[in-house]
Amino acid sequence: MKKILAVFSITLLVLFLVASCTNQVSKPQQQNDKPIIQNTTKSNIILFGPLSESYTEGKVLIGYEDRNSALEVVKLLNGKIAVEVPEIKMLSVTFNGKVEDAYKKIKEANITGIRYVEPSYKRELIKPEPVKDDPAKYIKSGKELHGTSRGSEYFSSSLWGLEAVFGGKSAEEIWAEASGTDIIVAVVDTGVDGTHPDLEGQVIKGYRPLTGEELPEGTDSSYGGSHGTHVAGTIAAKKDGRGIVGVAPNAKIMPIVIFDEDEVYVGDDYVAAGIIWAVENGAKVMNHSWGGWGYSHTMKEAFDYALERNVVMVVSAGNNHTEQHVHYPSGYPGVIQVAAVEYNGGNYRTTWFSNRSDGITVGAPGVKICSTVVMPGSLGYKEHQGYSLVDPETNGVYDYYDGTSMASPHVTGVVALLLQKFPNAKAWQIRKLLESTAQDIDKAGFDTDSGYGLVRADRALEGTLPTNGGVEFFTVEITDAYGEWKVPTVWAQLRRTINNVVVSYYAKTDLDGIAKFPQIDAGDYEVIIGGPDSNERCLGYSEAMGESRPGGYAINYRMAEERQITDNITITTSETKTYAFESEFKVELPTSLTNEATLVWFDFITSDSDYITISSTNVDLSEKSGLGQLYVMLPETPTELVTLNATVTLNGYEIPVFTEIGTDTTVGILDEIGGHPLLYWTVFGKK
Ligand code: CA
Repeated sequence: MKKILAVFSITLLVLFLVASCTNQVSKPQQQNDKPIIQNTTKSNIILFGPLSESYTEGKVLIGYEDRNSALEVVKLLNGKIAVEVPEIKMLSVTFNGKVEDAYKKIKEANITGIRYVEPSYKRELIKPEPVKDDPAKYIKSGKELHGTSRGSEYFSSSLWGLEAVFGGKSAEEIWAEASGTDIIVAVVDTGVDGTHPDLEGQVIKGYRPLTGEELPEGTDSSYGGSHGTHVAGTIAAKKDGRGIVGVAPNAKIMPIVIFDEDEVYVGDDYVAAGIIWAVENGAKVMNHSWGGWGYSHTMKEAFDYALERNVVMVVSAGNNHTEQHVHYPSGYPGVIQVAAVEYNGGNYRTTWFSNRSDGITVGAPGVKICSTVVMPGSLGYKEHQGYSLVDPETNGVYDYYDGTSMASPHVTGVVALLLQKFPNAKAWQIRKLLESTAQDIDKAGFDTDSGYGLVRADRALEGTLPTNGGVEFFTVEITDAYGEWKVPTVWAQLRRTINNVVVSYYAKTDLDGIAKFPQIDAGDYEVIIGGPDSNERCLGYSEAMGESRPGGYAINYRMAEERQITDNITITTSETKTYAFESEFKVELPTSLTNEATLVWFDFITSDSDYITISSTNVDLSEKSGLGQLYVMLPETPTELVTLNATVTLNGYEIPVFTEIGTDTTVGILDEIGGHPLLYWTVFGKK
């Protein structure tokens, strides 16, 4: 799917170029026998996040090496710092205007010390599905799953999710082993109504990144509605005989509000601030029942920050009933992704709306889930949402929701139980333990519906932490042939087959050529590096692209021709695996040029020009590394328009190129479209 999209985008790009540039390409002028070319250095290469996904205008997120550089951007845009997250060297800036205009200004300003600039992508709460069936079907009535206790709360008969994940053990037996004591669970969501009688005493200090407020313990922070309160109840509602009870009733809930008033997503910048606040304030596991498109460096770095500190990240698969691979944060490596499971009276199976993908870890109950909702009068209370159940003694309100958003908190609760038993567990050990003890459902063995199956707390608590089978830090580094140029914005994919399902982890290299894969499975992998990501335009200038398409050329343009590495590796320990691209880069020139013209390789990264006297029709440039352009310089201005046709051979791909040199210049750029000032060859040298 991604590949098809990439090819499609490249095709569009080419079509666009042909359409927009053929009439307006300005040929470089000759001065002192040298072409004048935009001067730049490697240090002002900036990754620009694609504007092809849905994003918010008037804001950009800036990853920096040097904070002063980011402040220069703030000034340049006449903007204001929205939020700053020094732990991942990011600040965001709001300004009046459009993001694509801001991109253009930043590129033109040639500021050094910036790693990336990206838009504020829109993401959504994974909203509950309407409950269609009568919840009574799931109420204990002789149609028990295991026939075991669902606790002894007022609405315990409705808590089929507890019975399902506790498997063969009663709730009391599970809680005798572990109940989440001393485990802090961050609910990264709409906020939590800490005044709900069943959550009183369960909600500790939280954070509202949009305002920078710390939320005192026990307060109502349900700014974005009931969703987070429902999630929180499933994880840790109180065991007090009233209402319901959570999977881990002695765990503590830390609300992180990322869907604020009117349920508006605060942005990846504030989410990053919230995640890091949670890590720094002791969260050991986080529940994420939300997501969206757009690979964000900011959010990836925040997730890596948590995962590298062994904070377990549990993420809902989503409710779109589609194959999804590029939905974030569920698509980041190292997370536990949860599908929604239903019980049809005889079997468990993944429910119709739950997203399918090779990234699913386990399934958990996700239909007719009875949990806490915001109290009438609380911040997030909406009359039309209301509630369907009231505890007659406490007046606490409850409702049934369907959704993968309701499934992931069951897993988060089980993780809290496990973390009480194994407080020093690595994040991957917890995931592997859940996988190996899951109850196989749907197709036999691992599948794209429910991953390894229904999560089972009873079996997991009886298990031991695996000592192998995962790694904390695995990193891919991409360089040129000489190890000097760290190549950014390249997709690295680790692929293997589990039970005939092709399973992949993806990550993208940053400006240092690094793609991180924290907390992944050990094992045998096929490594595929090269793409596709034609959207992230990390270089180039806007104007030649026209108003409708900001940015310059993708570094990944000519992807197939320029770079492809495949390898087979066995990952057993934390390590950095370095891959070096190499290029065979040759030019075959027309015989008419021999001995009377000069071929110029201009290196965009170093600003060096290499003047090569053409003594043969075949020139081997394979030692070149970087982003560059090929110029032909004639000894004198031609008397009439000269068209030169040549062939570039790049890693075995023959690419016809040409240039036209008019009577007012001696210089022409050789490329597929006759000379575009922004179309660079990306080459990596050869050892
Ligand atoms: Ca209760």
